[in-house]
Amino acid sequence: MQFNELRSVLFTVIILILSLSFLTGCGSGESERNEHYETPKLVVGIMVDQMRYDYIYRYWDHYGEDGIKRLVNEGFSFDNAHFDYAPTFTGPGHASVYTGTTPAVHGIIGNSWFLKDTGGRTYVTGDSDVSTVGSDSDEGEMSPKWMLSTSISDELRLHNNMKSKAVGIALKDRGAILPAGFSGDAYWFDYTEIRMISSSFYMDELPGWVNEFNNRDLPAVYVSEPWETLLPIETYTESIEDDNPYEGTFRGQDNPVFPHDLPAYAEIAGNGIFANTPFGDSYTFEMAYAAIEGEKLGRDGHTDLLAVSFSSPDHIGHRYGPASKEVQDTYIRFDRELARFLNYLDENFGKDNILVFLTSDHGAAHNPEYLRDLGLPTGNYNRSETQDLLEDGLTAIYGFNPVRSLRSNQLFLDHDAIRANRVRPEHVQRDAAEILISVNGVAGALTADALRNGTFTDSIHQKIQRGYNQSRSGDVLYWLEPQWFTSSRSVGTTHGAPWSYDTRAPLIWYGWDIPSGSSTRLVGISDIASTVANFINIPYTSGNTGQPMNHIIYGKN
Ligand code: ZN
Ligand code: ZN
Ligand code: ZN
Repeated sequence: MQFNELRSVLFTVIILILSLSFLTGCGSGESERNEHYETPKLVVGIMVDQMRYDYIYRYWDHYGEDGIKRLVNEGFSFDNAHFDYAPTFTGPGHASVYTGTTPAVHGIIGNSWFLKDTGGRTYVTGDSDVSTVGSDSDEGEMSPKWMLSTSISDELRLHNNMKSKAVGIALKDRGAILPAGFSGDAYWFDYTEIRMISSSFYMDELPGWVNEFNNRDLPAVYVSEPWETLLPIETYTESIEDDNPYEGTFRGQDNPVFPHDLPAYAEIAGNGIFANTPFGDSYTFEMAYAAIEGEKLGRDGHTDLLAVSFSSPDHIGHRYGPASKEVQDTYIRFDRELARFLNYLDENFGKDNILVFLTSDHGAAHNPEYLRDLGLPTGNYNRSETQDLLEDGLTAIYGFNPVRSLRSNQLFLDHDAIRANRVRPEHVQRDAAEILISVNGVAGALTADALRNGTFTDSIHQKIQRGYNQSRSGDVLYWLEPQWFTSSRSVGTTHGAPWSYDTRAPLIWYGWDIPSGSSTRLVGISDIASTVANFINIPYTSGNTGQPMNHIIYGKN
């Protein structure tokens, strides 16, 4: 054998040995826990309604070490996570996180929407075939019946032959029901009878631990004292003056300033006003502790899921806006409650046995008057003027009025009239879109015909398409310029746009074998569900379209 041949044989043998050892895993680094059958005892999904990503850093100096800072420092943060569809509302947000897909597939196209067959409107979780469990009001006539995909809760229970438990909790019905899905248990707040309830869709009667929780009557405690800032108000320098023209008030209140006299306003509007204060979060945390204890979550061999959503930050955000000291105090107080909750999970289960993720259901815009006063771009769009313009313009072209409904930035056409007049719907859609984009403040419009017959990859067009459900959505979908608002909103704020202030959300993973780290890779909120599924070795949801991000967390591109 020539020296050269010998060398090439030796080389081949070495390569073979190296690749064998690589294939069998010898010498490779630490393994991922999710490659084994072992799974966390408890998954806790935390959603903070209307939490903007920047609240993590805007209030950072006021947070303690054990709450939000602990999640960021010890967990893995996705710093460029977005709602990957529009409209960015609470119903679609909760459905998308837990179904791993977008309104195009899960069908939750808004908090309410126009029904093509009846001409009426539906509420996202409204269901008159079921009844309230736990009170005499109709606030429990709710179910997930409009949701077209399973949620993680359903898949977890299916996978473990219904031995795993899944519990959804929120003040808002939709914040509890859509995450709990069809086979978990959901509990939400009855704003008229001031207690946690459920519906006959889920159960025949409330479990004893929920009755015990209601008997504590925490709302009465929360409204017995004024709402003051947790820390001295002069340290809240990240926010604008407490007394300003951009904030709303409680009924009976003259100026939107601390201290907010809750005993006085509860006299006027009832104890339910605590939901519009940070104590709504305290209440929700107390309900979460009660659920973990009452249902013995995470105590047997099967992974359980607790989906808890904090609704009060949305109520507070709508009233005061992101620049207010009220919102700042809400997050500083939330951070303290979160710290106590994480300590509780650590002590009772151990950080290695829980998997926590924290995200929101949409962001929020700044108050438009505040932006205008600062000279920043903003504007008001007038819906009823736009409808008049559409009706006149289309009647001039076709000789009849084909407009059926114009709400939530969607145009529904009268298809009976269109058929009777022997006109092609796609022509009417195109002419309507043409009129819409001539309206001041309308940034763009897409026809149902275009949304059905092409695939968009551009960020805004793609978001509209992912929010478009073929059977439920309208004939033309349109969106406004950044920071433009429907009608004039003088106080507080809102959300719903496809722009980053509404789509960008915090997304932090913590516990289990999550390494500390962060990524600015673009991920979608609909990517959360399949990631959870991979962590706990269960199937993806029935409608899943998201892409798991486990490999990014472990630094494996
Ligand atoms: Zn919301
Ligand atoms: Zn204020
Ligand atoms: Zn909201």
